[in-house]
Amino acid sequence: SILAIFRDISERKQAEDEKTILKTQFIKAQKLEAIGTLAGGIAHDFNNLLMSIQGNASLMLDDLDSSDPNVTSLINIENAVQSGAKLTQQLLGYARKGKYVVSPICLNHIIKETAGVFSRTRKEISIQCQLDEELSLIDADEGQMEQIVLNLFVNASDAMRGGGDLILSTHNVTDEDMRGRLYNPNAGNYVKLTVADTGIGMDQDTQERIFDPFFTTKEMGRGTGLGLASVYGIIKSHGGYIDVDSEEGQGTTFSIFLPVSDKERHKKNKSTKHIIKGSGTILLVDDEEQVLEVGSKLIERIGYKVFVAESGSEAIDVYNENKAKIDLVILDMIMPQMGGGETYDKMKMIDSKVKVLLSSGYSIDGEAAEIIKRGCNSFIQKPFSMKDLSVKIDEVLAN
Ligand code: ADP
Ligand code: MG
Repeated sequence: SILAIFRDISERKQAEDEKTILKTQFIKAQKLEAIGTLAGGIAHDFNNLLMSIQGNASLMLDDLDSSDPNVTSLINIENAVQSGAKLTQQLLGYARKGKYVVSPICLNHIIKETAGVFSRTRKEISIQCQLDEELSLIDADEGQMEQIVLNLFVNASDAMRGGGDLILSTHNVTDEDMRGRLYNPNAGNYVKLTVADTGIGMDQDTQERIFDPFFTTKEMGRGTGLGLASVYGIIKSHGGYIDVDSEEGQGTTFSIFLPVSDKERHKKNKSTKHIIKGSGTILLVDDEEQVLEVGSKLIERIGYKVFVAESGSEAIDVYNENKAKIDLVILDMIMPQMGGGETYDKMKMIDSKVKVLLSSGYSIDGEAAEIIKRGCNSFIQKPFSMKDLSVKIDEVLAN
């Protein structure tokens, strides 16, 4: 006699599969969390250090005659500070943190500007732009969009050592046009950006790993492996999608989709090359002594009188006593005990029309954006130069 027992295990199989997927997602989330914490810590301390270096270099540059032989060295110091700040920005981008100032922007504008700067450094690459003049606006952080575009350009350029074509195009599309890709896009209108190069391309294995942090095929010193990881993080935090299409020896095309904004465009001051001098009184609040010291010197040099406060509570006291005199408060966001957010709220209770420029090297999950939503006037990222600062102050005071 034969006894046969059948058991349908498809449900169990399915549950197991789901478990593995959840597990990988969990590990990924943990990795992201760890990098986020790391990036946050570095960004906060490191950017304060850079702030001091940058500020002192700015002050010295301002003192020197342009013919002074030290001017070049100081400019080199400023450039090195900017590179250092970019590294922390990459990490923050990957960790999806530090999305500060979101406004309706046109991607074409950023592409043109970045391509312009870029083409000057790589003459053997010919850049072709096919930009849709009617392109919709997107809600995005301008600095982060620049970072994305620049990262893609640098990679394309690395893939075309001997020269080649870089083709940039933008279009208005909808989720319908995005069918058949790996993800399931939310319904709605999108702006599509493609960055195509005629470089060395990638094999399948490489393509699968390009968005991993620290994955690089470049030799030591050339690649950090953070470029595309940060691109990915930034696009995700903007509710967008990214795709890559490549073949070895055939070049590479990146497609990026970002959701269209439903807001009106607001006007932006064009960036200036010069320090904008002004007059008035500013209260500078920061818990780092170094930042206070160099910051107050910078502010005085731009033409303003300055009060300083080392903590949120001290800032409230100073503001209470001098509110008639103080035209603007520059407020550090992360401080022990009373942070920037709380200090801002308290100042608003003293004077609802208080003007506040928020400053930080890092924001915890868009905390800066939160404070800005509550009415805070603007945000400046540390480390900033004398020029950056003067432009920001002027912008806030003019409003
Ligand atoms: P990095 O540029 O520092 O190596 P990225 O995250 O920017 O780090 O890129 C990761 C890897 O992806 C690169 O090392 C390279 O192998 C591959 N890659 C990225 N963009 C391109 C491209 N346009 N063409 C060919 N390979 C690319
Ligand atoms: Mg790169």
